[in-house]
This record gives sequence, C-alpha cells and structure tokens, in this order.
Amino acid sequence: MTALALDIGGTKFAAAAVHADGTIQARSEVLLSGYGSPEEALAAVVGQITARVPEEDLRAVGVGSAGPLDARAGTVSPVNIPSWRGFPLVKALGELLPGRGARLAGDAQCMALGEWWRGTPRLRHSRAVLGMVVSTGIGGGLVLDGAPFLGPSGNAGHIGHIILDPDGDPCPCGAAGCVETYSSGPNMVRWARANGWAGDDAKALAVDARRGLPAACLAFARAAGALAAAILTASALFDLDNVVIGGGVAAAGPILFDPLRRAVARDARLGFQRRLRIEPTSLGRDAGLLGAAALVLPGDRPDA
Ligand SMILES: [Zn+2]
Repeated sequence: MTALALDIGGTKFAAAAVHADGTIQARSEVLLSGYGSPEEALAAVVGQITARVPEEDLRAVGVGSAGPLDARAGTVSPVNIPSWRGFPLVKALGELLPGRGARLAGDAQCMALGEWWRGTPRLRHSRAVLGMVVSTGIGGGLVLDGAPFLGPSGNAGHIGHIILDPDGDPCPCGAAGCVETYSSGPNMVRWARANGWAGDDAKALAVDARRGLPAACLAFARAAGALAAAILTASALFDLDNVVIGGGVAAAGPILFDPLRRAVARDARLGFQRRLRIEPTSLGRDAGLLGAAALVLPGDRPDA
C-alpha cells in the first residue's frame, strides 16, 4: 500500500508517495511564493506526485501541517499563511484526490511519528517518545505505546508553550514565559542582541557560539537550560524514553545538545528520568513526510 504524504509549512509545501515499508517513491516540494494562492500551491505539489505515481496507487492521504489546526473539523490555520484561517484542508484534498479519507496532524507530531517509525531503530522499541522541532517556534509531538498521541482537538504535544516563568517575557500565544520565549531562534537572537551580540540571525549566532564568543555561547546555554526544563517536565508527565529534536536551531549541533544534555543530567533527579536519551533527528526533513504517511498506513508497519 502507498500513501500520499503532505507536509504543509508556512513557506513551502512538500509531498511524497510513501510505501508501507517506509520507502519514498516520489517527492516534490513547492515554494508558496511561486504561486498566486496556497490553494494553487497545494494542487501543484499534489499534481507533481500524481504525475509520477498512478493516482489509483495512492490509497490514503496523511497530512502534517503547521498549526494551529482542528483535526476534528479537518481545518488548519497556519500562523504564516494568513489567508488560511480555519481552511478546510481535508476537504480540499478530498477534491484533489476523491474517495480517500485524509488524516491530519500537526507537523511536529508527524516529525515525532516519522522518527519513531523510520528513525534510529531503538526508537521503535521505545514506549514514550517526544519529538521536538526547535526553529522559528517550538513544536512537539508524542508517540506513546507505538501510536501518535494527538489529543481530542489534534493539538497535543505543544511543548513550546509550557510556561517556565509566569512573570517572563510575553509569548505570541498570549501567555508569558513559555519555553518558546527562551529557546526559539528569534528569541535567542533577541536575547543575545540585548546582551551585546551584534549579529542578525540564529545561524550567525550558532557560528559565533562555535567560535566561543561569550554572548553567543550564553544564548545557547540559556536556550538549552529552558529546553531542559521543558523536557524534564514532559518526562515527569509521560515517563519518556527518548527525545528527538529537529529544526533549524537544533541543526546547530553540539553547541545546543551539549549544554542541553548537561542540564538534563544535572536536573533529572527522579530515577525514571535518568534513562532519558536526547538526540538529534536522524531523518532530517523526511521525518515529517514519513510521519504523515504513518498516520494512514496500516498499523502493522514492518519493524525497522
Ligand atoms: Zn506561549
């Protein structure tokens, strides 16, 4: 069986035909800026797959989308696509590929599911996995006992909005002191600039941290500390085995992961928290597409 998998991001849409054994048979990607509307971009990215894989072979459709979303209604409202507010994505896909039910989840939830399914083999034996995307924002998703835990509205796993300090900086979500206000790329840059760093973006901040520039190193240490607090909170709630982290900020590598692991090791005081393993994504950007496919492929997925 083959599924059409979609990854709906704020600036680009990706699609793939994914076989039940996890192989990707075709993939495509379009930039939203290249189309008159997101609806046209959606039709184009799907059309690029159906041009290469017979439509009748695509038996189901799985979608990971930037949030927020309403999985029950099949609608999405990606923050960076202003014209899509409560957009009926599942219905639109039903018109592009009639007769198949589409299943919708968050992009970070799909990333977690993709890593569990096709990432490091050890994850397949893990009963409690948290996937995180640390980037412009911070998203997350849980795979518990081998199934994605999406929650009644489809929004479970929003770890970026765990509140670390109710008196902290305002967060775009409306609360204050969320982990996102410490550890997202733009917020790390904002803090570094307020503390004497002169660069522009998270990539430059990573370069300077690798060089040992104090303000940049401190920005990463601060972000890692906040991530560690959020991860340990999730660990206490869900008895996590593994945390897998992807996204642009996580791509910085050891300058983020070293202080993160140190902070978690220091503060994991409960015995069950000490087995927690934290690692970078092993699938990169394919994780989201594979996870979207796994939403609709048969439950007896072959072991990796
Ligand atoms: Zn928030």
